Amino acid sequence: MKRSLCILFVSFLLGCLYVADTPFTVHLTAQEAVQKERAPIQLETVTVFLRGAGLSKQEGIYEWVDRAVRSASAEGFVPPKDISVVFQENADPDFRDGASISIVFNPKIISLSPHEGRAPTQLEKVTIALDGEEVFKQEGIYEWSCKAAQLVIEWFPIFDKIFETEEFIPGNEITLRFRRMDGVANASGTTIRISDNWVLRQSRQDFGMVAHEMIHIVQRYGGRGGTSIPGWAMEGVTDFARHAYYEPDVVMRRNGPNDTYRSSYQVTGGFFMWIEHVYDKEFVKKLNQHARNRTWPDDVFEKYTGKDAETLWKEHNEFLQTIPDNRILPSRDFGREKLGNTYSITQR
Ligand SMILES: [Zn+2]
Repeated sequence: MKRSLCILFVSFLLGCLYVADTPFTVHLTAQEAVQKERAPIQLETVTVFLRGAGLSKQEGIYEWVDRAVRSASAEGFVPPKDISVVFQENADPDFRDGASISIVFNPKIISLSPHEGRAPTQLEKVTIALDGEEVFKQEGIYEWSCKAAQLVIEWFPIFDKIFETEEFIPGNEITLRFRRMDGVANASGTTIRISDNWVLRQSRQDFGMVAHEMIHIVQRYGGRGGTSIPGWAMEGVTDFARHAYYEPDVVMRRNGPNDTYRSSYQVTGGFFMWIEHVYDKEFVKKLNQHARNRTWPDDVFEKYTGKDAETLWKEHNEFLQTIPDNRILPSRDFGREKLGNTYSITQR
């Protein structure tokens, strides 16, 4: 299999003055496509711009760009046709620690069918920002960030449909910022910030974290003037969706003796899964509607199950005693094409 010729035009933008400089060509060798579900999209041309006076003067930057493009290809990242990849100094006001690189993709490639209702929202702009020399020169960061970009390109439309509510369309761009920072990751607005040390040194396979943060951006509960969903419930809905749809094979963590229904993340997410299984299979869908419409009811559990939270929590934990390993697993047969709450609680 022969990958089409990829041409890189590298040019400079010095200040506001655009100077087209000597372009050079890189020949890439095709790798086996990693994607199993659709034919790989072949690149016809890739136009690479290297912008910003500071960036173009970076020592070794041309070699870095060349290696980045080659290694992304080798990792099986298949960007859509007709993209421009722009390496530029970024202008994030939060970041003042030297040069950063932004790589901008303009995808619009997913076909989701069948789907009911409106068409899934597609990302039209995905930016990878590598903040700081210590980050963008780190071995493997470009490959990792490209995989993360591919994940959000593929899954954003799917989660948009899962969380679809009337008269609400999420934004169509995401920025993935990798930087040296405490913690793992966070999301605000349309930006996901990720610790480069976490993904390269601590947990190289933690793409579930990217899915979690992306779900927050799809939900956009904080948009349009704040939200009324409590934080623990928001994280519960998010981890519910992550584990029911994105990684149904991953076992959610066990409830500990000090956990409550408000322990957030996987504990609350597992609790919601159980409520759907036993009481109301559209429970999370309703929570999502309340969160988006800012109509969160204080008696949300009573309203949809007829029981208060404490009673439900007790029942939930009694149920967990009856299944091996105290574990809830969403069904494995949930396909990404099947949009809806079709999972069930199974045993392993
Ligand atoms: Zn979260």
